[in-house]
Amino acid sequence: MNDLHHHYIAGEWVGGVEMSKNINPSDVSDVIGEYAHADRAQAETAIAAARNAFPAWAASSVQDRANLLDAVGNALLVRKDELGRLLAREEGKTLPEGVGEVVRAGQIFKFFGGEALRLAGEKIPSVRPGIDVEVTREPLGVVSIITPWNFPIAIPAWKIAPALCYGNCVVFKPADLVPGSAWALSEIIVKAGIPSGVFNLVMGRGSVVGDALVTDRRVDGISFTGSVATGHALAAKAIARMAKLQLEMGGKNPLVILDDADLPTAVNCAVNGAYFSTGQRCTASSRLIVGAGIHDRFVTAITERVGKLKVDDALAAGTDIGPVVDENQLKQDLDYIGVGQREGASLAWGGEVLQREKKGHYLAPALLTEATNAMRSSREEIFGPVASVIRVKDYDEALAVANDTDFGLSAGIVTTSLRHASHFKRASQAGMVMVNLPTAGVDYHVPFGGRKGSSYGPREQGRYAREFFTVVKTAYTLP
Ligand code: NAD
Repeated sequence: MNDLHHHYIAGEWVGGVEMSKNINPSDVSDVIGEYAHADRAQAETAIAAARNAFPAWAASSVQDRANLLDAVGNALLVRKDELGRLLAREEGKTLPEGVGEVVRAGQIFKFFGGEALRLAGEKIPSVRPGIDVEVTREPLGVVSIITPWNFPIAIPAWKIAPALCYGNCVVFKPADLVPGSAWALSEIIVKAGIPSGVFNLVMGRGSVVGDALVTDRRVDGISFTGSVATGHALAAKAIARMAKLQLEMGGKNPLVILDDADLPTAVNCAVNGAYFSTGQRCTASSRLIVGAGIHDRFVTAITERVGKLKVDDALAAGTDIGPVVDENQLKQDLDYIGVGQREGASLAWGGEVLQREKKGHYLAPALLTEATNAMRSSREEIFGPVASVIRVKDYDEALAVANDTDFGLSAGIVTTSLRHASHFKRASQAGMVMVNLPTAGVDYHVPFGGRKGSSYGPREQGRYAREFFTVVKTAYTLP
């Protein structure tokens, strides 16, 4: 079935200048649908519509916004199985992971439905007698939302929901690889009754649509999640015109496993963090930093577990790991496995392309051992089911290696030592720290984001989302 899916601009569904096929990575003969691609002019029309709609939406009742966001959340939850299936089909994560992601998106919309009613200001005594000081938050304005392919519905949700909650108008550009879930989410927002121009969906290439969304002076802020290279290029253009910016980029997340760790917990955390969702998570554990005393037992146990993981069609029952998202990403994963081996690491398991019943981009999860932190495979984001084991002599060396990276998104430690866990929470240079838990897997009502090269600008999610999506005003009154 080749459904045609159009943009949503200025309250209308409109065709694109060209159409692009959405292909299932588990079965490349399966075309999920055709999705419009916009040119720059269409992106500019969407920005103009958002600009026109902004004054009325900014002044709209918070009850109306709360109702709308709650309705979107409910619709997502009701349709979780159908949309989870679409998500798994277009992105390649397993069906339970796809359904879980849709549920997460629903919860996020409902959370921000509540937040619309809780945006309080402050009244502060003035240092000058007789004067009132008020600190309030106002909407930022028109925001561009640019998202990556690896969380096709949750990342759009955690940007769009707070944007609308706080009174902003949105122009949304999803990743061109996975427009299906984004389109379905947009249709739900439209059916919930969003006023014309307040929310616009413009699909297409980053270099065309994305660039218009970044460079157009009518856009007040850009919330972007994606790769470091795109983030840096886009930031330079946005800063040149002083637009507000929020960037979530790559990771090279460490999982430290100390000698005193519970071995099953260590293996569970490592396998989940490194390989689930095909390792295509910005919070994936790609560096397993393991104490010398537990190293050999850990490598034996994890190799045995990884060997049992079923790599197959994302929609098939019992699949642990779906395919890699596309041919380019598969090539990148294979290149890095080769780089690691040439630099001196051993391939203890996996790393080969797998054939399944249908032709897809299947890769056996790869475990590199005897790696060092200096290797390129330990320093650059691979973004696939590839993890490197780095042996260390003690906690101090583990901490130093964990922090010796350009990134700082998530970091984990597996230990039974309260002293080391407490110290690691304080000394880790990551934005999110996990103790006896995988580096991936977070709550939606608390801040999400990283440090160093991983992130730029205010945190996302939870109440912290208001830092980006609102501007602060300080008012002085002499009654
Ligand atoms: P990408 O940078 O290739 O693309 C991200 C988005 O930017 C897409 O919508 C793309 O079309 C758009 N884009 C591309 N060029 C552009 C341009 N010149 N101007 C404006 N927009 C442009 O990233 P990807 O391959 O889709 O996603 C994978 C990356 O995302 C990984 O690096 C991963 O770590 C990162 N990621 C980070 C987080 C986080 O929260 N830190 C979460 C998920 C993914």
